[in-house]
Amino acid sequence: MLDLDASIYVAGHTGLVGSALVRRLQQAGARQLLLRTRAELDLRRQADVEHFFQQQRPQYVLLAAAKVGGIEANRTRPAQFLRDNLQIQTNVIDAAYRCGVRKLLFLGSSCIYPRNAPQPMSEECLLSGALEPTNEWYAIAKIAGLKMCQAYRREFGFDAITAMPTNLYGPGDNFNLTDAHVLPALIRKCFEAKLAHAEALLVWGSGTPRREFLHVDDLADACLYLMNRYSEEAAINVGWGTDISIAELARLIADEVGFAGALQFDRTRPDGMARKLLDVARMTALGWRPRIGLAEGVAATCEWYRAHQVQLRR
Ligand code: GDP
Repeated sequence: MLDLDASIYVAGHTGLVGSALVRRLQQAGARQLLLRTRAELDLRRQADVEHFFQQQRPQYVLLAAAKVGGIEANRTRPAQFLRDNLQIQTNVIDAAYRCGVRKLLFLGSSCIYPRNAPQPMSEECLLSGALEPTNEWYAIAKIAGLKMCQAYRREFGFDAITAMPTNLYGPGDNFNLTDAHVLPALIRKCFEAKLAHAEALLVWGSGTPRREFLHVDDLADACLYLMNRYSEEAAINVGWGTDISIAELARLIADEVGFAGALQFDRTRPDGMARKLLDVARMTALGWRPRIGLAEGVAATCEWYRAHQVQLRR
């Protein structure tokens, strides 16, 4: 069981996932959260990471620090996605093992499964085929992180586990249109289209790809659940097990925001994977289920955006 009196390091606590983990841990009564901003500790620098672990000696690590972004960011910054993620995860996992961390949770991503994997995608389809080219750099790095956790468990007996979340969204997401994922990007576009009394809203791609969306507070809950109950080599999927088309998502968000105009599809933009749906049988068998449905989660995230949009535009 996760000892809530012990020191718990949340790497990447200012991000979407990290901030949700902090909220969930605080709610659970964690007494010693160890947090460092990027300016305080650059996780890409091995010597700095080793020094931090030697000084602070955390007992648990939740590794939510990563370079992330939507389909356009992945396409235009392959080197950064590969390099930053490899460096961050290698430094943190190795330093955690060397400094006697009791348990570490690494976060993978549903995009590491092959492009033509049977849907819904089970944990077994990992490395069974070619990756989706629009995010292969990120995927390669995340696969290396997952394998590193497995290798350290096998060779050194280090209790490192991997959770594989589906597409996430929620408060604190990145709403910057050039590198955001689709859900926050569409929230912003709808607010701006409504404000400008625009006739139409531009949605990238054909609108037919299907995606599964999980509220980040559900993911944070799942992470704590796994820290308490899971200690195996295999990664474990975390999602709803149901999906929606991008066109349907755009309509849902437009209705929530109150944008009544048309949806226009920009087919010069890539669709990416046709479908990305997780098989969540393993997580369900462990006794965990998400709670925040998409309509409820989208409404709450729109509300959050409404309250923070002035700051976000600066
Ligand atoms: P993916 O899940 O890795 O493909 O990443 P995204 O969340 O960036 O994109 C999911 C799907 O939504 C893709 O088919 C995109 O083309 C589509 N999409 C539609 N409009 C947008 C938008 O404004 N921003 C982004 N990032 N994706 C969009």
